[in-house]
Amino acid sequence: MGEPVAVIGAGLVGCLASIALAKRGYKVTLFEYREDPRLTSTTDRNLRSINLAISARGISSLEYVDKDVCDRVLEGIIPMKGRMIHDTKGNQEAQNYGLFGECINSIDRAVLNSRLLNELDALENVEVKFGYKLVRINFGDIKQNCIFKTRQNAEESFEFDFVVGSDGAYSTVRAQMQHAVRMDYSQEYIDTCYIELYIPPAKTFNDDFRGPFSISPNHLHIWPRHNYMLIALANSDGSFTSTFFGPWSLVETLNSKSKIEQFFFANFPDAAHLMGLDHAVQAFLNHPKGALMCVECKPYHVPGGKAILIGDAAHSMVPFYGQGMNCGFEDIKVLMNLLDSQSPAEAFESYSQQRHKDLVAIIELAKANYKEMSHKVTSKAFLLRKKLDSILARVLKGKWLPLYTMVSFRADIPYHKAIEIEKRQMKILNFIQAILLALTAAGTIRAFSRLRRLLKRSG
Ligand code: FAD
Repeated sequence: MGEPVAVIGAGLVGCLASIALAKRGYKVTLFEYREDPRLTSTTDRNLRSINLAISARGISSLEYVDKDVCDRVLEGIIPMKGRMIHDTKGNQEAQNYGLFGECINSIDRAVLNSRLLNELDALENVEVKFGYKLVRINFGDIKQNCIFKTRQNAEESFEFDFVVGSDGAYSTVRAQMQHAVRMDYSQEYIDTCYIELYIPPAKTFNDDFRGPFSISPNHLHIWPRHNYMLIALANSDGSFTSTFFGPWSLVETLNSKSKIEQFFFANFPDAAHLMGLDHAVQAFLNHPKGALMCVECKPYHVPGGKAILIGDAAHSMVPFYGQGMNCGFEDIKVLMNLLDSQSPAEAFESYSQQRHKDLVAIIELAKANYKEMSHKVTSKAFLLRKKLDSILARVLKGKWLPLYTMVSFRADIPYHKAIEIEKRQMKILNFIQAILLALTAAGTIRAFSRLRRLLKRSG
């Protein structure tokens, strides 16, 4: 059996990293402080969204680890070809994501996590230990000594060649690494609270959508209201998981049945009808209120091949580009590629060097996308620009790529490159827009002079 390594955190990223490492011959022990999610009820969920959007980067990384695993864990995902914008009168307007029918996909977080754990069960060189909370790491010259609190509140320690930290935004691995390396680190809370809501399946089979869906399952539904919004993604049983995002100061004022009802009537009347007003009231009064934060750090490793951070532990981001998990899966692809040709010490070093600019880029893109989803999608000027952007992309096939396409559908374009290309394209787009405006202005002046001449003649 190969070198013993520890993966901390059996979330989506830790599970996939364990599969990838096991396939490379490492002897993997995956530690998770929660109990096995497959044994707990589905209503016993933590603060985070039930369903996620998985797109090209996530899918290509799963395929890279193992094509069969990818097919099995993604079975039944629901393609979403665009946004469906809901206005306050209940009108809906579709805005496609891709140029050629490309889709992002809705998948149940718990189902994906359970399926990845099932895949791990089938691998001989992986052991999963639930109920083990990492509390300390002593980084040694050769072995890394990891100390855990067990569910009996006892301490147990294990030694590994290296440690992979995939223990999420509040990572203990990261905190331990900070004692061993001069790590730059920042954490920023965004003034947005999120609350999860639920739209039940329709009572009857809906021929339009081939299922018990009350609205199109193949769109990401958005109720954009400028500095707050509601979104909804379909689940395979016909229901939708909906999430409200808004400033904390607003949410704090929505503290009574009548205020919440009024708020929904004024802003989301059709959504209130779909989910039931009582449900909306209960959700605002009783559901957990989630905070959103961004984490950036550098480097991601302890020199000597002792430890490496991936997933949210390395780069927590706001969820508005639907890239957190996708990016975490991509971390694994990048890291495994390096491990295939380098020692862990070299590979971890290269990873920190190479990956940082992409992680900084996607954290920024994710922040910027809140404005696009909650506000810009309702602006005529923005939609016109988008139209121009997609016309150029169609005409210049492959030579012009909208930003959303590069981020969500092109796993071969690193995030930082996507930003560079977008900046170049925006300069050109600004120029074209200025010319079009000038032409329109000149046309309008000519039309007025002609009208004046005609009026003079007729007078
Ligand atoms: P986590 O999922 O946080 O897993 C970390 C695991 O480590 C947990 O199981 C935890 O119990 C365990 N752990 C923590 N500390 C310890 C310890 N000391 N010892 C042992 N175990 C420990 N991403 C997308 O790609 N698409 C989306 O559409 C999307 N939507 C989102 C919507 C919302 C509202 C939010 C909040 C996030 C969304 N994300 C989305 C982001 C995505 O959820 C995360 O990026 C992803 O879950 C990160 O996975 P992870 O495995 O790195 O971390």
